Amino acid sequence: MVNIILVGPPGSGKGTQAERIVQKYGLMPIALGALLRQQMVANGAHKVRIEEYINSGQLVPDHLSFQLITELIQAQPAAASLLFDGFPRTIAQATFLDNYLKQYHAKIDGVIFLDVSNQILLKRLKNRATIEARPDDQDDGKIKTRMQIYEQETLPMVNYYKARRRLHRIDGTQAIDGVTKAIETIIDGLRP
Ligand code: AMP
Repeated sequence: MVNIILVGPPGSGKGTQAERIVQKYGLMPIALGALLRQQMVANGAHKVRIEEYINSGQLVPDHLSFQLITELIQAQPAAASLLFDGFPRTIAQATFLDNYLKQYHAKIDGVIFLDVSNQILLKRLKNRATIEARPDDQDDGKIKTRMQIYEQETLPMVNYYKARRRLHRIDGTQAIDGVTKAIETIIDGLRP
């Protein structure tokens, strides 16, 4: 069993890479953003509240993300290896997750950080907006909000795991296959 967090700024290629390694290693993906978007489309229980946050590029409040993330974890088989994509995004979420897993004698084994510069991210996000039509990719204001949240909230969380010697940084500007290879090397080193 190996539990991994994939972290990176919006547009760093997290989703693409998550899909690839989930298949290769049989990890169970825990993707909060994808679940939130599904709830919006499917008129889920929290639709209206979620819509406001996602469409403005804000993080949903902790009480909601904590509830959804624990439901997602509990829905997995007990011995599953988990791949967290997009959660945690703040130090508060990271400490919540660490404490939550501790109850089950589990832990985060490694945090894989896809590092990509702002300039490249902006280009990629605009491109994704034309392909996937995600409302939160559509305008510069919303993109800027997400970038700011990333810098103010998520980068400190990256440092939180760095200080705990669980961080593995990857140059996310490489070609997609190069990033996948780098991630695979890290996971191979983490597996028992
Ligand atoms: P993503 O698909 O990971 O880019 O997430 C899309 C949106 O879902 C974000 O902009 C937030 O509004 C919301 N979201 C995703 N993950 C989190 C999280 N860990 N905490 C709070 N909100 C989140």
